[in-house]
Parts: sequence; C-alpha cells; structure tokens
Amino acid sequence: MPSELDFLIVGSGLYGAVFAHEAHKRGKRVKVIDKRSHLGGNIYCKEIEGIQVHQYGAHIFHTNDETIWSYVNQFTKFNNYINSPMAFSKGKLYNLPFNMNTFYQLWGVTTPQEAHNVLQEQITKYGYAEPKNLEEQALSLVGKDIYETLIKEYTEKQWGKPANQLPSFIIKRLPVRLRFDNNYFNDRFQGIPEGGYNCLINALLKDIATEVGVDYFQNRNHFDQLAEQVVYTGKIDEFFDYEFGQLAYRSLRFETEILDIDNFQGNAVINYNDKNTPFTRIIEHKHFEFGTQSKTVITKEYPQNWDLAKEAYYPINDEHNQAIYKKYQAKADTLPNVIFGGRLAEYRYYDMHQIIASALKAVKIAFKE
Ligand code: UDP
Repeated sequence: MPSELDFLIVGSGLYGAVFAHEAHKRGKRVKVIDKRSHLGGNIYCKEIEGIQVHQYGAHIFHTNDETIWSYVNQFTKFNNYINSPMAFSKGKLYNLPFNMNTFYQLWGVTTPQEAHNVLQEQITKYGYAEPKNLEEQALSLVGKDIYETLIKEYTEKQWGKPANQLPSFIIKRLPVRLRFDNNYFNDRFQGIPEGGYNCLINALLKDIATEVGVDYFQNRNHFDQLAEQVVYTGKIDEFFDYEFGQLAYRSLRFETEILDIDNFQGNAVINYNDKNTPFTRIIEHKHFEFGTQSKTVITKEYPQNWDLAKEAYYPINDEHNQAIYKKYQAKADTLPNVIFGGRLAEYRYYDMHQIIASALKAVKIAFKE
C-alpha cells in the first residue's frame, strides 16, 4: 500500500520546521508531529503581558553566514538587537565579553597597551603551557582575576562540577577583545524575529499539516507506516531504546515572574557569576524587542542535573558520551528511511544558525541536489 506521506517529521523545532518547509516546497506530502502542546521546540515563545517570553531559555539569532541570514529573513523580519550581557559578581557589574570595558572595570586600565600588559602578566604568572582542564585553560587565556571574578563560579554552577574536572573546550571560544566593544558575538548578522520566534516557525510551517501533543513513541508502528521517510529530531538514544546506554545532558530550571514595573534590570541578559546566587542569569524578555509595555517578565535560570523526567538542554560532550553517541550514529546510518537531525538527534550543542545549516544540508542529500 503506498504511504500517505512522503515525510513524517518528528519534532517541530527549527530543524524539523526547516526540513518540513523545504520538502513541502518541493511538492512532497509532509506532516509534522510534536509531543509538546505547541510547535517550535525550544525556540517557542509564550506571550505574557504582551511580551514574547522565551520559554526554553534565551535565544539570540546570530550568524556569519549571509546565506543563512537571508534564509531566515525571507520568513520574518529580524530586529537590530545586539546581545551585550552584563555580569554581576561579588557586588559589582562588569561588561561581557571580556573587552576594554571589562578590563577598565577590573583594573582601571584605560588603554589597550595597559590592558595587554596586565593580561600578559597574569597569564605568565598563572597560565599553563599545556592546559589539561577548563581551569587551566581559563588561567592560560585570561589569568587569575578574570577567572576568579567571572568564570570559575559561573562555570561550576552551570556544569555542576569543579572547573578542574571539566573539559577545556567549553570556554575555548570566549573572546578577549582589546576594544571597547560589548557585542557578545563576533558574527556579522544578529537579531531577534520581530514578534518573537513563533513568527519564524509559523512561517516555515505555513500550509503544512501539524499535530501537537502527539508522542511518536506511543504509536511508533502507525507513524512509521504513514510515511516513506521519517525525519527524527528527538533524542537519538531514545530512538534506539537506549540499547547502548543513555546519553547524558545538563538540564535547566526556569523561574518566571511578572513584575509590576516597566524595567527591572535595564538589559535583556545579566549573568550572576558568583556562587552566592544560585541561578546563572536573569533574562528580562522585553529588552530583546525594545518593549515598552507597562509590566515586565523576568526569568531566573537555574542549572540542574538531568534525568529522563527533565528537559535535555546541554549535551555533555565528553569522551564517554561521544563514544556512546558514535555507536548510535553508526546504527542510524544503517536506516535509509530515517533522517536524524538537530541538537538531540545529532547530540551537539548547536546554535540556531548551525541547526538551519544542518537541516538544509540534509535536504540537499535527501533530494540529491
Ligand atoms: N562563561 C563564564 N562566564 C560567563 C559566561 C560564560 O565563565 O559570564 C563560560 C561558562 O563556562 C559557559 C561557557 O562560558 O558554560 C559558554 O558560555 P555561553 O554564554 O556561550 O553559553 P550559553 O549561553 O550557550 O549557555
């Protein structure tokens, strides 16, 4: 019996939505299902007091790739938001990423040469020729003052482990800038969809059949028979019934409050870098869109240990978990009718632009283009 669909897409996050859009555009019969009660995966926003609240953590779109930027801009207009988070540590505020403003706040230095000299002095004194963990890596990149003020305690809260037991790649990408420039990202293009991320997802999924509140695993045979091919964006270990063991994640808990004031912290993101505060950051959502509502909505973000009952946010990309993932990946490669993609199926901490690139690549392979 011929299948009802060409593609059944399991998961309506950015990967699933981009794949669905592209397949639909090529005349294929597509349906998207999601076990949550809404579309959009982790970029979903809930409107509260007229403010787009990022329900699964702050998402700031940024990319250096002009084709990806043009791609998303066909669907919705992006504003000119630039991420410039502040860091609160031991009673003082600092600019991020580490730049001339931060160095001035820390050491009172006013020129790049002075800042360079202090950094070099600190790195020579505290750095390692061959850093073996995150602590040694950070000391070798920025020295002791920055490490102790802005990195150590934040990182230990974030990952729930001492910094000298964490892999160094986590902070390899922290930029150090000898310019007065608080833009957190080095990318050329950046912004937030006007009206929130749901506009992007809804535009991608326009005219495509979708169903929410449906769990693929509850009725797997039925779903598999429905379509020629399945695009699976959930956890890859769950797909294979955990036969090679569970992949580990770090989870988050969000506490959201509506406040009867129009401006709580004057910035979308303030990190809380010392251990005296149990959360890692407060997001004030309205500032992503320069909101002028009379109330404000804030979210405190608490890192937490992950278990199967919790949302899987950050893959733990250590050797142990990578070895497990490789086994699943090899098995996935033997299934020609299933495409695995996205953060959970590829077990990678992707930024949004990377997810889109990955989905567009999968489309090219699937359609032999
Ligand atoms: N980090 C830090 N202090 C900060 C911000 C980041 O030490 O104020 C470190 C921390 O180890 C974190 C990593 O840098 O896990 C990556 O941070 P990023 O802001 O890129 O992470 P995300 O926003 O994706 O959680």
